[in-house]
Parts: sequence; structure tokens; C-alpha cells
Amino acid sequence: MNIVGLESIVLQSEVKRPVSDALHTFDAGTTVVTKVHTDEGIVGCATTHFGRAKAGAAILKTILDKEIAPLLIGEDPHFSRKVREKLWFATEYYGVTGITQFAVAAVDICLWDIVGKASGKPVCHLLGGARDRIPAYAMVGWYYERERDYLEHCVAAVEEGFKAIKLKVGKHSLEDDIRRIESVRNEVGPDVTLMVDANQIFDETEALRRGRAYQELGIYWYEEPLAPYRTEGYVRLSQKLDIPIALGENYYTRHQFYDAIRMNAGAIYQPDNRRTGGVTEWMEIGALAEAAGRKIASHGGGAGNVNILCALPNAVFLESGSLKHQEQGMFATELQLIDGSILLPSVPGMGTEVREAYIQKHRVS
Ligand SMILES: [Mg+2]
Repeated sequence: MNIVGLESIVLQSEVKRPVSDALHTFDAGTTVVTKVHTDEGIVGCATTHFGRAKAGAAILKTILDKEIAPLLIGEDPHFSRKVREKLWFATEYYGVTGITQFAVAAVDICLWDIVGKASGKPVCHLLGGARDRIPAYAMVGWYYERERDYLEHCVAAVEEGFKAIKLKVGKHSLEDDIRRIESVRNEVGPDVTLMVDANQIFDETEALRRGRAYQELGIYWYEEPLAPYRTEGYVRLSQKLDIPIALGENYYTRHQFYDAIRMNAGAIYQPDNRRTGGVTEWMEIGALAEAAGRKIASHGGGAGNVNILCALPNAVFLESGSLKHQEQGMFATELQLIDGSILLPSVPGMGTEVREAYIQKHRVS
């Protein structure tokens, strides 16, 4: 089988109510759909979402169309490591990290999607399945425009069937963090797992002070207290705190994960499907973490991440939004939440196919 073309499509959806964390407000609503076409008619599909960075989609589309598409023609999609190396050497001059890696990741996901579709199996089965479902937590504890909305969303997620919830912290005082955590705990009861995410906002002193408070409150993990490049700070925090530190959503490729894992920067590593370089890179990061006795969780949800996490024995959680109204959403594959876990979809490939009607409705370029 040979690749005969790459197509990139930019979608724009309206962001009615932007949400925030301690550092960002998500108001862009842009998605790039990458499709890789083969001479057998099988098409691989991947999506790259931009919650912010409004020009990001146009930059990614340019890299895909102008730099990457010509390099793929004639390649066999089964040779994802060969393609990855080819793309690395073709693009490293302007992007060993950043949006260039978003492009490399999208291609890799498309290749695995093609291989899965060609074999009639979900990609997890080809990677070597470790489980058929993955515990999921609901990322619903944002800072909302109407402040009190976080509580309503957390309660709704538990009613939907999630047994774990993540709350944003750090935008305001520690007292405000404690108020948010305790109010959710009071509403959802003692059996729901709570995580917190500071999105890089603290310096090391403040990260330690707040971390001690979070661990007193029984929080399951403490995510991204420091900027991603503060690896030594992460090491010191991990030594001083009992609460597991989660990090990695802003790391690019196995090389950055390798540095953090070998230095013992944290306990739970969170690859992002856009930044890490796709399925191939993810599996290697998972293996590095497993060999070091460390856990993996995804940054972001969706069927693609379910396929990957179900192939990693040290995966502990999938991040997810609400699964309500999937029939009106972007993806053709609808996920199922049972007893707090999301089931591996049986659809061949990655499950990352975008509904054609959705593309027609939201396409801008
Ligand atoms: Mg995070």
C-alpha cells in the first residue's frame, strides 16, 4: 500500500462560553483535520484542536501542505518509524518542538488509522492490548465565566457516570482553591477521586505551600505546578511532597520525557497527542515510564487516546470531557462510559474519523 496524498482541512466552531485555567482562556475553537490518502482507497484521519492560538491552524495547515505532503507520496503507511525519521530530518531545522511536531503527530496518527482500517482491527489490538477499557476522569472543574458553574458541571459529570473529576487551581488564592475543592467534595461525596491542575502558574515556593494543602485534602494528583522546563524544581517538589506530581502535557517527543523520567520529575506522565509525535512516540514514552515504575495518563481524550492507553499496562487515567451529545459532535465514533471507565471502541483504526456532515458545516479552509 502506498500513500498518494495528504489533505488538510481547517474547521471553526463557535466558542459560546470560553473556559479558563490559571494561565489560559480557551476561545479559539479551531481544528485541523488531516487526511492521508492511499492507493487502496483507505484514508487515515487525525484531528488537531487549538483551544487557543487563533493563527495556529493556518500555520499547521501550511506545514502539512507545503513541507510534509510531498514527502509522504509513495511511502507505505505500515512504515511509521521510517516516515517519522524522514519527517524529523526534513523539519528539524525549524521545529524540533512546536507546531511542526503537531504536524508529525497528525501524520503518525493517520498512518496507524490506515493500518488499523486495513486490518479491520482497532489500533490497540495491533499495538498489543493491555486492557479493554480505561478509567476516565472528567475535566470539568474549569474557571467559568459564571464562577459558580464549576460546581454544577462537577455534579453533572458524576451523575453521567464519571468517578473522578479534575479541578483547575491556582488562579486565585490558596483559600479559593480550598473553597473550590471542599465545595465539590461536599457535593460529590468521599468516593469520587479528585485531581487538581495548576497549569504552570506557581513558583517553587508557592507550589510546595499549595501542594501540602492539596495533599491534606486527599487530592489524587497535583498536575503541572511549575513551568514545563523547571525539571529540577519538579524533582525537588516530588521529593518534598507525598502527593503524586503529574506533568508532561507540554513535552515534545520521547526525548523530553526521557529527561524528566530519568531525573524523577514526577510520578504520572501525561503525553499530549499533538505534541508528543503520535502513536509511535506515545508507545515509546509509555515504555520509558513503565521501566522507571511510573504511570501514564493522557492529556486530552477521544477514541485515539483510548486506543493508546488500552495498550499501555501502566496507564491509569484518560482525560475526558462530558460524553453527552456525542451524536451531534465532531467524531463518528461514539465512546461508551461504563462504571467510570471508557470502553475501547471496536471500530477499525484509531476511531478518529470526523463526520463528513460536521466538516461541511464547519469548514473554513
Ligand atoms: Mg493540565
